[in-house]
Amino acid sequence: LLQCQPSALDITEAYARVAQQCAINEQEKTQAQAPATTTDGHRIEVAANALNAQDTHAAVANGAEGVGLLRSEFLFDERDTAPSEEEQASAYSAVAQALGKERTLIVRTLDVGGDKPLSYLPLPKEDNPFLGLRGIRVSLDQPEMFRVQLRAILRSAPLTKLHIMFPMIATLEELREAKAILAQEQALSGHHDVQVGIMIEVPSVLWALDEMLPRVDFVSVGSNDLVQYLFAADRDNRRVSDRFDALSPIVLRALKSITDKAAIYGTSVTLCGEIGGRPLEAMALIGAGYRNLSMSPASIGPVKAMLLALNASEVTGFLNDLLAQKTGASSIRAELRAYAEGKGVPL
Ligand code: PEP
Ligand code: MG
Repeated sequence: LLQCQPSALDITEAYARVAQQCAINEQEKTQAQAPATTTDGHRIEVAANALNAQDTHAAVANGAEGVGLLRSEFLFDERDTAPSEEEQASAYSAVAQALGKERTLIVRTLDVGGDKPLSYLPLPKEDNPFLGLRGIRVSLDQPEMFRVQLRAILRSAPLTKLHIMFPMIATLEELREAKAILAQEQALSGHHDVQVGIMIEVPSVLWALDEMLPRVDFVSVGSNDLVQYLFAADRDNRRVSDRFDALSPIVLRALKSITDKAAIYGTSVTLCGEIGGRPLEAMALIGAGYRNLSMSPASIGPVKAMLLALNASEVTGFLNDLLAQKTGASSIRAELRAYAEGKGVPL
């Protein structure tokens, strides 16, 4: 058994460290109420990933400028029957009300399958569920369930800046089908004032940007799945996921190709994977052209603190040079960290 007998000095030091961290957290929380602008004047929009209205209130209190990803699965989880349109509408409206008309709400349509089973909907047993019926594929396979969800989401359009986003889009055909169903429901409900977008999390989309970007109002990069599928390495299996770094030239080039193309088409881009909530990774994302990030509410303070000390044009130049030089490297994490430390950017 491991014996832990801290000395009186250890205990005093530990209390001092806790007090110091609490003071930093408080300061970051106060700072986070203000919009984040880099030292060279680039405004970065920071939103939160949320599951429900309670999360949304917490997110706004933490300085979120909107909800960049509402994971609608929460309504469908752990139950025997599908939630009714009424039940869904009241949940989405509660989130929309918590945000109000000045903030953005991005509702992602049901993203189940793979690691997210659905108890009342017996999905077929698959040998390889991560490559099977998941995300938008489930919705297109069950169009009535999809329509009920869309009708429920559309009912919150008058309450907020409503965005609807389709997960796991892999082909133009899926996008066309999903958009056609949504357009029919919009025509029936009269709610036309809605932005429509997709998650970029399946690598095939990286080579279909010229076709996809002009057909949507916005895209949101799901880096959790995108990295997992790029490297064919399960994001939750540490034996393989640790071998691949999101701060590799491969990933950063892929992420930069999205912002480069989006600028050409004028499509708005955000990123809602976990990396957006880590200050070092978020710094690299600013270098790769991202100006909108969505993250867990607890990450907003530390990320905004990093942004307030960052020069966006300078880190862009630094990242571009690194990507040009380190073509064969598996990670440029150490170089990015040294850059942040040298510039006094808090991580
Ligand atoms: C992602 O894939 O990065 C993402 C945000 O979606 P989820 O983690 O819910 O799959
Ligand atoms: Mg995903």
